[in-house]
Amino acid sequence: MKIRLASEILTDSIVDGPGIRTVIWTQGCGHNCLGCHNPITHDFNGGFLKDVDELKEELAAIKLQDGVTLSGGDPMYQVDACLEIAKFCQENNLNVWCYTGFTYEELMNMSKKNNKIIELLNCIDVLVDGEFVLKEKTLNAKFRGSKNQRLIDVASSLKQNQVVLYEEKIKQFDKYKKNKALFI
Ligand code: SF4
Repeated sequence: MKIRLASEILTDSIVDGPGIRTVIWTQGCGHNCLGCHNPITHDFNGGFLKDVDELKEELAAIKLQDGVTLSGGDPMYQVDACLEIAKFCQENNLNVWCYTGFTYEELMNMSKKNNKIIELLNCIDVLVDGEFVLKEKTLNAKFRGSKNQRLIDVASSLKQNQVVLYEEKIKQFDKYKKNKALFI
């Protein structure tokens, strides 16, 4: 199976979710958000194709990463390939964050026609959902660009059949980092 990427994977990111992360930049996005910081990733024929098995080998070789972030572009346009990658991450104890321009509710609707979306959501720890809205732009919201976007605890949301936000866990992580710093 192939995935269309915008660039090779990026390691050691500290801005695409908590901890030190590897980022996979998928190519292709149909949302056309005004003010998108990454318009080069929109073209569904742009970027390059990469074998998913090869990508998994690269992920397996990377050490000292807390997790993997699926970004783009919008990973939800390549559900099958992203599912395979997210499953691999799950099996290898790497937490998965995913950025998408779709809202959680839109994805749930889309999943009625494509059950793989639910399978993919089941492999994602945190979904950062919704389009980037320029008038909602903020520099103060952690791990997202505009205030409408949400950090969603996917497992709890699926279980409770409603959106459960991840904010509390982020606060705990910050507290943990602060406490850890006191001991270094
Ligand atoms: S969803 Fe993300 S990549 Fe797509 S247009 Fe919006 S900001 Fe850009």
